[in-house]
Amino acid sequence: MHRRTFLTTGGRVVAGIAITGCLPRTGPGPAPSSRRRVDLVPVDVSWDRIIRTTVGLRPHRDSGFVVRADRFDEKTVIHNYGHGGAGYSLSWGTGALVADLALAHTERRAAVIGCGIVGLTAARQLQRRGFDVTIYAAALPPETTSNMAWAAFTPVSGLVTAERRTPEWDDQFRRAVDIAYRQHQLLVGTRYGVSWIDDYSPIADPNAPRRRSAVSGDESGPGLLGAGMTLGRTMLGPGEHPFATPYASRVPSLRFEPSIYLDALMRDVIEFGGRIVVRSFETPRDLMSLSESLLVNCSGLGAKALFGDEELVPVKGQLTVLVPQADVTYSAGGMMPRSDGIMLGHVSQRGNWSMEVDEAERKRVVDGAIAFFGRMRAPSAPPARTNGSSEPQPITPPPVESFFDRQS
Ligand SMILES: Cc1cc2nc3c(=O)[nH]c(=O)nc-3n(C[C@H](O)[C@H](O)[C@H](O)COP(=O)(O)OP(=O)(O)OC[C@H]3O[C@@H](n4cnc5c(N)ncnc54)[C@H](O)[C@@H]3O)c2cc1C
Repeated sequence: MHRRTFLTTGGRVVAGIAITGCLPRTGPGPAPSSRRRVDLVPVDVSWDRIIRTTVGLRPHRDSGFVVRADRFDEKTVIHNYGHGGAGYSLSWGTGALVADLALAHTERRAAVIGCGIVGLTAARQLQRRGFDVTIYAAALPPETTSNMAWAAFTPVSGLVTAERRTPEWDDQFRRAVDIAYRQHQLLVGTRYGVSWIDDYSPIADPNAPRRRSAVSGDESGPGLLGAGMTLGRTMLGPGEHPFATPYASRVPSLRFEPSIYLDALMRDVIEFGGRIVVRSFETPRDLMSLSESLLVNCSGLGAKALFGDEELVPVKGQLTVLVPQADVTYSAGGMMPRSDGIMLGHVSQRGNWSMEVDEAERKRVVDGAIAFFGRMRAPSAPPARTNGSSEPQPITPPPVESFFDRQS
């Protein structure tokens, strides 16, 4: 079953960014009368409002991302790839781990292979430590997988299989996610296209058994960090929200606008003295012609062919985009609003290398959104707050563990 399919699990309706293991353990929250009703503008979904459908292949490894230094002849290669559906979320963090490994090298010139989110952030982390960086990449934004992402802070989405985790990898993950979460908070604003947004999940029964994800902890092993999954959530009861279900949870989320963010990072790399060169490499032998003796491999799924990593597998994703709607300032029902359009739905097909649009999936997602937003109650009056919430926003962000159930 696809994660984004509207489904009923144990009496609980899950839609869109499914909350897979995150409901408060206690009851449904305060009585309906104790809070003001949340008014949200429904998305205007129809087939004639679609402006594009995009396809991207997530670079997944069952044992998680690779951050490791190797020797190739006289070169040092530091790998940084295989981030699955969490490349945005972890990028600054694994980039920092890479840059720390690079400091052990005597040279202060580095070649970064790849100009997606992982390569760009690794380049910036290297520059922050005094490295002279050149990025070499076959494709630049807007032609990278990173441009095709849903792009929210979803640090464990499609990242790792619980049974394949090791204590060493867990430690790398822990350090990376903490660095990345902090970094993203500091980038909030229009320059980078990073912002906080309220994410709503409709819920039929808040006391229904919780579904656990492989990484949040289940029969296959302990969670990546275990606790914290319920933090930062508000449970809205009947009459307090506009969704068709009796309950809805609301949680602050971080989102990224790829077309703004990746361009801003490219400008930063250049502003800090870096260079970006379009160049393709077929084999590690080709890399030996580079003048830098320190190479950082951020080639994403490209590492499968370039370095022969057979564990890398594509997980195909697909987004259908509607005309932007400025008054939609929340995410819900598999919908994420951005300035370049309203993103709808997700596809998650392991092992599928096709870059063709899957029409059946597109129909499922669009029909699901038409039904979902068609059932939403329209606001009785214009929403009082621009973010659609009638309650004050959190002053401090929720702990990073509260993002461990997010899917993208
Ligand atoms: C539909 C979808 C939704 C997603 N949603 C989220 C989300 O909400 N949150 C999140 O954190 N992540 C999300 N992701 C995952 C995220 O997009 C990826 O993890 C991330 O883009 C990987 O970045 P990357 O830089 O490693 O790879 P890429 O963006 O693919 O960049 C790889 C770079 O390496 C270059 N390259 C590759 N091979 C070679 C070669 N042989 N020679 C020269 N250059 C080479 C490419 O040209 C490119 O510049 C999503 C992905 C998809 C598809």
